[in-house]
Amino acid sequence: MDRQLLEPSQMDGKLTYMYDKTGRQVALLPARCKLGRHTLGHSQFRAVVRDGEPHISCLACATDTADHFWRLTATAPAPDRAELSEELYFDLVRSRSQTALTSGDGRRA
Ligand SMILES: [Zn+2]
Repeated sequence: MDRQLLEPSQMDGKLTYMYDKTGRQVALLPARCKLGRHTLGHSQFRAVVRDGEPHISCLACATDTADHFWRLTATAPAPDRAELSEELYFDLVRSRSQTALTSGDGRRA
């Protein structure tokens, strides 16, 4: 059997949470955009929850590619706060950017 090849866009991973000092839940979002081109703390991004599914969209990539947002699985209701995490989603970004490297001039500085 083929692995979900017909799925237009698969889930990218699971949304991760942590708790701050006051015990409030904080969502950890990827610090890089899905294509690995931009650091989301510097570029503009938008995080929305659609049908219970967090989407983190890179506004810079949104202009030239349709597949510009992370699709993460939420295991809890969306918390009030969110922080960016470079480490947590690093492997996901890395596999993405390697794919991008073979299909364009994505030379990294
Ligand atoms: Zn981007």
